[in-house]
Amino acid sequence: MTNTDTTDVAATVAQVKALADAGSELVRIAVNTPEAAAAVPAIYERLDVLGCRVPLIGDFHFNGHKLLSNYHECAQVLAKYRINPGNVGRGTRHDPQFAVMIERAIEYGKPVRIGVNWGSLDQDLLASMMDDNARSPNPLDAAHVMREALVTSALRSAQFAEAMGLPGDRIILACKVSNVQDLIAVYTELAARCDYPLHLGLTEAGMGSKGIVASTAALAVLLQQGIGDTIRISLTPEVNGDRTREVIVAQEILQTMGLRSFTPMVSACPGCGRTTSDYFQSLADKIQTWLREQMPIWRAQYPGVENMSVAVMGCVVNGPGESKMANIGISLPGSGETPVAPVFVDGHKTVTLKGERIAEEFAQIIVDYVRATYGGHTPAPHLLPRKKSIPIRSA
Ligand code: SF4
Repeated sequence: MTNTDTTDVAATVAQVKALADAGSELVRIAVNTPEAAAAVPAIYERLDVLGCRVPLIGDFHFNGHKLLSNYHECAQVLAKYRINPGNVGRGTRHDPQFAVMIERAIEYGKPVRIGVNWGSLDQDLLASMMDDNARSPNPLDAAHVMREALVTSALRSAQFAEAMGLPGDRIILACKVSNVQDLIAVYTELAARCDYPLHLGLTEAGMGSKGIVASTAALAVLLQQGIGDTIRISLTPEVNGDRTREVIVAQEILQTMGLRSFTPMVSACPGCGRTTSDYFQSLADKIQTWLREQMPIWRAQYPGVENMSVAVMGCVVNGPGESKMANIGISLPGSGETPVAPVFVDGHKTVTLKGERIAEEFAQIIVDYVRATYGGHTPAPHLLPRKKSIPIRSA
């Protein structure tokens, strides 16, 4: 999801494009004001001119019924509407306002994601369920009731939408919470009680490694059970941080679990007392970054390249073995070893690199392999940045 002001068309277009280039297959934008709704068609058109046709999802809260009714072009160009049933109006206004949004989805032939979030759970529903629980002879704890309220809110909203005529195959459900065990429990329950596609995400996961680890822990358990059809990683970016980080993390979760491939992945050893320098760490990072940068072009030119595996290893202990198991691997010299780096292609040693240009030569070997293995033709490769080469140090 973008974090730009949607009325800032240029900034929003740039961020949507960056997210799509990073591999995002759906991008959600906030549609929170009349001005934002009015800006959506311009965002769509500019992206189209740029050749970026990633589906745009409108995120509506509080006034979605008005915006979708008053801004027809906005309603038309959006690929999906996200509706939070906890934020469509309280009391007697809830159902009519929710109904208006469903009517617009039916009118424009759009799918709807009913996205429940425990930070904005339908308070009337929660209060009613808490009261019922308190009167029960065997009351459940409050956390259990909260989880049941999340699931109930999603399912009732979906049933309401279907009763209005929105086909069930145009309904996606989400029930996001910020606690790992709650998320697993809620989605396990949801999956057991409906056949709607489910959108997974640990909401408010946080910053940096905490957000990544918590999201991975929760989603891995669910994905392993076959639960989940779309995912989003909700990372809090550092100030001026790269918004595409959450896309990369999402891809890495799916790819490392063997569920889908997005970009060639680099295996690298952690290094130890046998390593003579940080050269292999630097090379592994450079190669992974460079591979990711090639993907917007390679994805189209070389189908299947996303499955390629690359190894960058630090010494002879595990280097040759790991390199042989990758499509392409390089085993750098550790402490006391001859300062040369054998390269393995599909399990066979093909060349030994040495000197100042190992990074560039290794990248060229990868490019040649990609061309030969995945077909097509690519212009002269943009190899690693022509900065000063990092030399291999002898022991
Ligand atoms: S491959 Fe070599 S350098 Fe890397 S962790 Fe293993 S022993 Fe250490």
